[in-house]
This record gives sequence, C-alpha cells and structure tokens, in this order.
Amino acid sequence: MSLRVYLDPGHGKGVTGQRDPGAIGPTGLTENEVTFDVAKRLGHLLRAKGIDTLGATLDAPRDEENLNEAVKAANAAHVDLFVSVHCNAATTPSAHGVEVWHGGSAGAEKVASAVLARITAEFTGGKGSWLNGRTLPLASRGVKQGTFAVLRNTHMPAILVEMAFISNPQEEGWLREATVRQQFAQAIADGIADAFTVKGE
Ligand SMILES: [Zn+2]
Repeated sequence: MSLRVYLDPGHGKGVTGQRDPGAIGPTGLTENEVTFDVAKRLGHLLRAKGIDTLGATLDAPRDEENLNEAVKAANAAHVDLFVSVHCNAATTPSAHGVEVWHGGSAGAEKVASAVLARITAEFTGGKGSWLNGRTLPLASRGVKQGTFAVLRNTHMPAILVEMAFISNPQEEGWLREATVRQQFAQAIADGIADAFTVKGE
C-alpha cells in the first residue's frame, strides 16, 4: 500500500466554526490564502510521486476543516504522516526564516529534518526547480519539537512547517508569489519522499 499523507492547511475555519484568516501581513496578505494554495500544490506534487493524500485535496474553501477536525480525520484514517502548513508571524517585523516543527517521535523528527534540508537547498542553494536559478535568502531557524495540538493529538508522525514570516515585509512579498509557493510545495514533497525513500520525480 502506498504512503498516505494527511494535509492540513493552517487556518480558514476556526475551532468554533468562525472564519480564521490566520496571521495577516503588512500589506494584507492572509496566512490562510497562502496555506491553502501551498497545500493544494503539495497535494498535486505528492500524488505525482504516487503518494496518496487526504484532507486538503481541497480545491474549494468549503472543504475547510478546523485543526481538531483534521486531527480526528487523520487518526480515523490511520495515515502515515500528518503535515500542517503555516506561515510564521511576530510583532517584530524583522523576524524571518523557516522552521519545521515535529511532535517528538523519531519518525516525525526524521521527516521534519528532511523537509527543512530540502527547503534550504531549494531556496538558498540554487536547487529550486521553479525558481529558475534564483536564490532567496530564506534563513533556517532549525527543526524544533513542539506541543501544538496537531502535533500532540495526532497518532502518527506529524510535522508543522512555518514556511516564512508573513509579518516580515520581504517574506510577505515572497509568499505572494506563485513560484515561491510552488517551490515550498515542491521542497516539502521532496523532503517527505526523502524521509520515506519514495522514488520518482
Ligand atoms: Zn498559522
């Protein structure tokens, strides 16, 4: 049976059913807009690698789940991996960079490390196939162990990717770009494939 991954784009629908745009950048970009687009792109790329996706196969906002619904569905489906996609935010505009969180198991830490390695290589190392040789100075803030609900309550390895700071003017600009979102999706897909030794493009 092929690998099964549950995709959870951060925010959209809050835990009480209210609208939750997530963090909002200095020029008005919402975190939810970015996380949904990246999750959708990630789903396409994973399926192209022969990996099954659940959750955010979403192509419409009505498919939105809040984080508790996503955790519950992932546990019921006994997926192999849970991936939550977010943008970071801070009150200090200069805060920047990417970080990947995991729930503490060896399996989750391995996936988080593989994903961060791919993001770093593809953004700063000139290996980003969608960036056409362009490099972005996206700093690595490292792999971290966290106790977010999606990491704590899932029964399988779970990671949460904080792609960049939407509160940072430069990084908000990057997050607006379709090619940058596609590259984040590609790097996350490649990291997952590395960690589970999935062959393919
Ligand atoms: Zn978030």
